[in-house]
Amino acid sequence: MKVENLRIVFSPTVYENRRRRPEEFAEIAREIRRDIIKMLVLAGSGHSGGPLGCADIHAVLFFGGYMRYRPKEPWWVGRDRYVLSAGHLCPVLYATLARAGFFPIEELRTLRKFGSRLQGHPGRDMGLPGIETSTASLGQGISIAVGMALSDKWLDRNDRRVFALTGDGELQEGSVWEAAMAAAHYRLDNLCWIVDNNDCQIDGRVHDVMSIYPLDKKFDAFGFAVLECDGHNYAELMACFDQFLENHRRSIGKPTVIIAHTKMGRGVSFMEDDYRWHGKPPTPEQALKALQELEDPYIAVIEPIEA
Ligand SMILES: [Mg+2]
Repeated sequence: MKVENLRIVFSPTVYENRRRRPEEFAEIAREIRRDIIKMLVLAGSGHSGGPLGCADIHAVLFFGGYMRYRPKEPWWVGRDRYVLSAGHLCPVLYATLARAGFFPIEELRTLRKFGSRLQGHPGRDMGLPGIETSTASLGQGISIAVGMALSDKWLDRNDRRVFALTGDGELQEGSVWEAAMAAAHYRLDNLCWIVDNNDCQIDGRVHDVMSIYPLDKKFDAFGFAVLECDGHNYAELMACFDQFLENHRRSIGKPTVIIAHTKMGRGVSFMEDDYRWHGKPPTPEQALKALQELEDPYIAVIEPIEA
């Protein structure tokens, strides 16, 4: 089957950023997961597993009233900033930003296409609203986020907050721990560092390739307020983000890390917890099955017209 034989329709729904009950995030996260599958099968390349695994984190962070942002005024000076340090996970960020109203949802069709603002790794120079910085070279984005938090807290002395997400394989980069050291040294309680802890990386289990554990003790020793949760449990994610905002309000003098235990490929049965889905897209047949599992109301096979 060719991708042209699939009926790929993106729903027009845009979601508000407001306080919600935990169960309200399920449909938003499912929508984001459907977008990820559609973007990837249309692109014919890209990363499937990581973005699917982070959909719940993004749903709660962007649509639960935690981050301050204005989609129609993306560079509003009072906004909180989000840095996706694991830049290859960008399909989840593109879907989230589109669903928040930063740019037209139909633009999701252009992932990885020549001239698109939605490149395979996020580029600030592409001009896509909501992309605060270019990322992908692993270990760099979190350092940029620390710089943002540093300038907010000690130069501009404002009350903005910086959220950043790293992968867990990414923590094998030495520069990550320099960033951690600086964040604690400068008492950056306006920094919320999220670790997507799926124990998967490009070619194996993180604990087999190069163990980063025990992660909680490492961050604690570096001077962080350490929170841990099931990264697919909305109530637990909410409790962590609430605690971070409280830490910031109380100026605890420490950065916060949320170690979110996730499963790569979450939501698609044949991708779940399998590192081989790190860097490949679904075939049209696999996309059909995935979208059926994700209850996509549009998906169908278009029969070729007989000549
Ligand atoms: Mg990982």
